[in-house]
Amino acid sequence: MTIIDDILNRSANLEIPYGELRNIPEHRPEMLLIGCVDARKDPIGDLGVTKGRALILRNIAALIRGTSVAPEQRETESAALEFAIKVMKVKHVAVMGHTDCGGIRAALQDIDFPSIQHYLRPLDDIKAEVKHQGGSLEDQAMVLEKEAVIMSVKNLQSYDYIAEAQAAGELSLHGWMIDIVSGKLEEII
Ligand SMILES: [Zn+2]
Repeated sequence: MTIIDDILNRSANLEIPYGELRNIPEHRPEMLLIGCVDARKDPIGDLGVTKGRALILRNIAALIRGTSVAPEQRETESAALEFAIKVMKVKHVAVMGHTDCGGIRAALQDIDFPSIQHYLRPLDDIKAEVKHQGGSLEDQAMVLEKEAVIMSVKNLQSYDYIAEAQAAGELSLHGWMIDIVSGKLEEII
């Protein structure tokens, strides 16, 4: 049995309560959570957030590129932010990095996959600084994981409407690091 078989079998065997399905729940999330694609993480479940309360944007290393990057290089990010903040009017946006992040290690190791390299380019300046400080790959990764969260929160603020909403007290920005083993959150920014 492959994972695909598991998914399709489960779906085929779902008992559907037709009456309840007519009651489509209202979509009124309170936050946007930006997390990494890492398969070991279930961003919502790991935080104990119930269905319906948080929109999720996942990408490699939970990066936000910000407006210094050309619009066509951040379409998914820009659209998700616009939807969450302007349409759904969420009150919180959180960037959540995690320990043992493969994307952060890929940045430090300059892996030879062109799309991933290009994607990780916003980390170049911080990465150079972290490498200059020295230490083991593990030590450098721990620093860069946190610095990447700080960078992404700052890049959120490069969107005028986000900075304005934050200044007006209508939107809170958060930068978190979750321990992949314990599930504990550390507030970074
Ligand atoms: Zn990751």
